Amino acid sequence: MGIASPKCRLCRREGVKLFLKGERCYTKKCAIERENRRKPPGQHGAMAVSKKITEYGKQLREKQKLRRIYRIEERPFRTYVAEAIRRPGVAGENLLQLLEMRLDNVVYRLGLAVSRDQARQMVSHGFFTVNGRKVNIPSYQLRPGDEVAVAPSKRDSEPIKSNLAGRGANVPEWLTFDATALTGRVVARPTRDQIDTDVEEQMIIEFYSR
Ligand code: SF4
Repeated sequence: MGIASPKCRLCRREGVKLFLKGERCYTKKCAIERENRRKPPGQHGAMAVSKKITEYGKQLREKQKLRRIYRIEERPFRTYVAEAIRRPGVAGENLLQLLEMRLDNVVYRLGLAVSRDQARQMVSHGFFTVNGRKVNIPSYQLRPGDEVAVAPSKRDSEPIKSNLAGRGANVPEWLTFDATALTGRVVARPTRDQIDTDVEEQMIIEFYSR
């Protein structure tokens, strides 16, 4: 168990948990957890301690971190940033909202998938409907009021059954989940304090505004 997997290496590079491996991320086996236990207090975030990181470098790291958390390639990520800047309000918060309102992310937040990777795969394989219609586009932007449901043909399928069995009850405030009907609803767009993503999003906007 000593060698970190490629996904865990991404987390180690960013110095934070990116939650890329499903259940393992919530256990003591998590590579970041193990690393933190080995370090004396105050030694976390070695990158920041050892090198003087330029402002540009910090912005770059933040945007790479956010891309990796949500598993977005550079090109679509740029499109999200442009849209976030175009919308009224705080661009950084808009960016996080756009990422959170993706169908794959909502499936993950509802606990119907153990990771965003798995959520994406399940969406592509037709596991979910939105407002009663099958949608197999992971990037599909949901809107407040939308209902996401497990497709009737998938209710008894393997990932759904095991993910429901292992699922925690913590659905963020901006979503609701009905465990009997296997439906979730988007109540509202999440506000920044309802998004637990550990990133300095305004730095990312600055990165692309250069
Ligand atoms: Fe690995 Fe998950 Fe921990 Fe990241 S959060 S280091 S992917 S176990």
